[in-house]
Amino acid sequence: MRRIYPGSITSYSQFGHIKVPKSVKCVCPGCRNKVEFVLKSTYQSSKHGLMTESICPSCKFSAPFIIITKEKDIHPDVYIYDPDTATHPLNQIEQLPKIPEELVRAYKSAVNVHHTKENAATAVLAKRVIENILKHFLSEKSKGLTLEQQFKSLPEHINLVKPITSLSPLMAPDGSLHHMLELETELDDEMAELIMDLLEDMIQYLFVLPGKIEITQERIEKKLT
Ligand SMILES: [Zn+2]
Repeated sequence: MRRIYPGSITSYSQFGHIKVPKSVKCVCPGCRNKVEFVLKSTYQSSKHGLMTESICPSCKFSAPFIIITKEKDIHPDVYIYDPDTATHPLNQIEQLPKIPEELVRAYKSAVNVHHTKENAATAVLAKRVIENILKHFLSEKSKGLTLEQQFKSLPEHINLVKPITSLSPLMAPDGSLHHMLELETELDDEMAELIMDLLEDMIQYLFVLPGKIEITQERIEKKLT
């Protein structure tokens, strides 16, 4: 699911005090072009959400949309179903250029055997995924080391602060982005969406993922005692 922000909604239908999007400009899940989808939706005040489909004018792909209406808010939450941006890592990793193919294959196999509830096979493939991740960063230095030793030396081989420090030039006081954030220059719909993406990425990287790892680690440790 991909959230459609109000900036990408080009027109609305009014139902009482609720506004339901009538047309939406966004990237098509079928052809990846930025197109305008026309939504035909029948709003029922007894329901909190509605699903509708809309045909891409460029590739004729029928894209499913989900609209969640909220009593106190005139703007509903709008989502487009886009399998390529689904939150499952399997869908995300293939889009990233730096992930080794071998690791993607191992992770896919691990997910598949886990679905069949083959626990022994899941263990074997989980180990292969961990080894592949470590090997990617440690390369030759991983040889002859136990997994514990490899984990310990991992921080010497990854620059975990780089994704954040590399953002600092973007925030320079004389930079275009800074001018937009200070409302000195206008930003268009696309830029507003990119800024929202950046916020989400920063929150994921700094809060969500470290927190999730900590919770999973605690649950594993609790299960082991
Ligand atoms: Zn399309």
